[in-house]
Amino acid sequence: MLGRLSDRVTSMHEAATLRMAQRARALREQGADVISLAIGEPDFDTPEHIKAAATRALADGHTKYTPVAGVAPLREAIAQKLRHENGIDVDPAQVVVSTGAKQSLMNVCLALLQAGDEAILLAPYWVSYLEMIRFTGAHPVTVNADIDADYKVTADQLRAAITDKTRLVFLNTPSNPTGAVYERGELLEIAEIVRAHPNVMVVCDEIYEHIVFESRHVSLASLDGMAERVITVNGFSKGFAMTGWRLGYLAAPPAIAKAVAKVQGQFTSGANAFSQIAAVTALTGDREPTRVMCAAYRRRRDLLCSMLADVPDVQTNVPAGAFYIFPNVQAFYGRRAGDQIVDGSVALCEYLLDEAHIAVVPGAAFGDDRSIRLSGAAADDVLRTGVDRLAGALAKLR
Ligand code: PMP
Ligand code: GLU
Repeated sequence: MLGRLSDRVTSMHEAATLRMAQRARALREQGADVISLAIGEPDFDTPEHIKAAATRALADGHTKYTPVAGVAPLREAIAQKLRHENGIDVDPAQVVVSTGAKQSLMNVCLALLQAGDEAILLAPYWVSYLEMIRFTGAHPVTVNADIDADYKVTADQLRAAITDKTRLVFLNTPSNPTGAVYERGELLEIAEIVRAHPNVMVVCDEIYEHIVFESRHVSLASLDGMAERVITVNGFSKGFAMTGWRLGYLAAPPAIAKAVAKVQGQFTSGANAFSQIAAVTALTGDREPTRVMCAAYRRRRDLLCSMLADVPDVQTNVPAGAFYIFPNVQAFYGRRAGDQIVDGSVALCEYLLDEAHIAVVPGAAFGDDRSIRLSGAAADDVLRTGVDRLAGALAKLR
């Protein structure tokens, strides 16, 4: 082939979430009746008042390049939101708007990590963190949380993983893929450890903050002394059903915010102009649609939990937030479908897609091969059919 690919890219894995969604789409295009619970994307449309704000913004001529770190009204609205809703003391100058939380996360990695550094991941972790860390040449260190611990890492586990090379810890609450939510007491323990290690910063990915069922979302950066030590990442994709608008942001200590904006200035510049104007409306306007969506995700969580509880040999946690469930299906490994042995989560997901036309994501992609991820961002009847198919296909394994 002409044009050698870099080692960096050759050794990178494709996002399993996007790959499974793409495989489901391809099968569907061939005429198969596929149920996809693969991608984590709200099945709701963006609320009308936000769409109307974007239309107005276009008519008003918001069609040009924007300042790299975001338009002033949006940075101001984000800072106000973080102060009032999350209790994080930030100035608009510390806010950098981006083309999605994904970009914010990568910007942080590029700004803070280099070869020889370590970054800690709490497994099960969201797929892209690992590849982002590896891309910078830094070394990912994984700390594993079990289903029996509600997929949450203990303070002792975290303390033991920190070395003098650790630069970043990735925390995601509510979590993709497990739905685990770190409570205030647990975050206080994490904060204490972070305080004892001045070279360590925490990336707290709060993109599912609006989807919490049992308690209230707590931001790590709101705890005593943490505003200087935490980079809070968020976006509009989940809480406002705005995945296709590509809009995210972070809030960080001033020097880090400046470095992140420098990176973004060279690679992509400021985010889409009219999306940013509409996002001000998302933050300052009616939040009822967000509450309605959260209530639907809660109902679906209950539905998924109760259906999966009836499937033999599947162990489920009860997600306290987000819209995923991450059942342990280890009991099926070693069983056979014809002459094919299911030897792990990747093989199981291939089998489920081929046998029952149900697309879910292998736990291996999230650093836990014992489980598979189902997205609950689908209509109730789709979830019912999906779990029925899953149960039927699992029952055929011997
Ligand atoms: N973080 C987590 C935990 C996610 O699940 C996702 C995917 N939606 C993102 C970040 C990226 O979101 P965005 O659409 O804002 O890039
Ligand atoms: N974050 C979503 C998921 O986990 C969307 C896919 C992606 O961005 O990788 O399914």
